[in-house]
Amino acid sequence: MNLHEYQAKEVFRQYGIPVPKGIVAADVPAAAAAANQLGGSVWVVKAQVHAGGRGKAGGVKLARDVETVRAAAQGMLGQRLVTKQTDAAGLPVERVYVESGSEIEREIYLSLTLNRERGRIALIASAAGGMDIEEVAAHTPEKILTATIDPAAGLQPYQCRQIAFGLGFKGKQVEELQSIAMALYRLYLEKDASLVEVNPLIVTKKGALVALDAKINIDASAVFRHKDIAAYRDPSQEDPMERRAAEHDLNYVSLDGNIACMVNGAGLAMATMDLIQLHGGTPANFLDVGGGATAERVTAAFELILSNPKVRAILVNIFGGIVRCDLIADGIVNAVKKVGVKVPVVVRLEGTNADKARETLAKSGLAITPASDLTDAATKVVGLAK
Ligand code: GDP
Ligand code: MN
Repeated sequence: MNLHEYQAKEVFRQYGIPVPKGIVAADVPAAAAAANQLGGSVWVVKAQVHAGGRGKAGGVKLARDVETVRAAAQGMLGQRLVTKQTDAAGLPVERVYVESGSEIEREIYLSLTLNRERGRIALIASAAGGMDIEEVAAHTPEKILTATIDPAAGLQPYQCRQIAFGLGFKGKQVEELQSIAMALYRLYLEKDASLVEVNPLIVTKKGALVALDAKINIDASAVFRHKDIAAYRDPSQEDPMERRAAEHDLNYVSLDGNIACMVNGAGLAMATMDLIQLHGGTPANFLDVGGGATAERVTAAFELILSNPKVRAILVNIFGGIVRCDLIADGIVNAVKKVGVKVPVVVRLEGTNADKARETLAKSGLAITPASDLTDAATKVVGLAK
């Protein structure tokens, strides 16, 4: 689960991590009022979306008077922001964060995330922070500093000092970096985060370290343990198809292709997507209807994949072990009766009650292409999608 920047900064404040003063606003008058309330003479207006890369996409605007704050908020609110990290449709901007402007001397990159290969949390830093960190990682990886954290010992002061020296810090700044890194580590563990990122962590003209941007991802499976985090959820930033799927307890992930898949079991679903790709097609989604699927759930699942306008063909791949094939067939027939189907459907059903399922589908009068095995199914559906 993603947090907005303004929410992540609230969490940072709870952990004593220095952030600029800021107020979130949902309309233009509130943005202007926020600037007045903050006072000072420089503000930054920041679009609140679940994506980075806002600076380069017009989602971060510096303002030297309240009129400019108003204009920046007017330009962002109610629009969709497209950044390098969103798809072509972008994400809706329902709120802006109005912040007191900072004077920047240096921009540092600092983050904590899980290194899956090592099975440990890593503290990652770079002196080349700011908006081009992806370029730095791709072309000059030696500029990225890493400390791998022993889970039993936790983040050690010497590791923070090593990183601080690597970033060129001296004296009091070394201590400040250490206390920020330690606080981020505590936050990471206590909130069940999968990523905590500060880019940039700035050194102000006065030499203080301040988190200018804040990104927190929380492990979705742990959100139930954190009521404060759960309250931060913003459905407007979620994929509408994935949201509907969650309401029906379906494991669904939207993808860019045009072949919809309905499969039981996550492993079989992955294998099915691989086979579609292998035979020259592209999957429109990952969908695992699960082992305990009911006819209602299958109907919901089928309706869901049918509602994607990009879909040119559907592949149903069911191996009935726990789930019964006839039940799946009933679900398909129900869904098609309810919403109609204008694209070819390839079905591969094996296992419990497969014969009964084939009979149901044959009698339904639907134009279904049966497939005898996985390769046959993938070849047929890729051909039909073209
Ligand atoms: P992102 O592009 O979505 O990662 O948004 P950031 O919050 O990181 O902002 C992008 C860039 O805007 C930063 O790297 C800074 O260079 C600039 N920026 C943000 N806030 C301020 C500020 O208070 N003062 C100044 N001078 N620049 C800022
Ligand atoms: Mn940033």
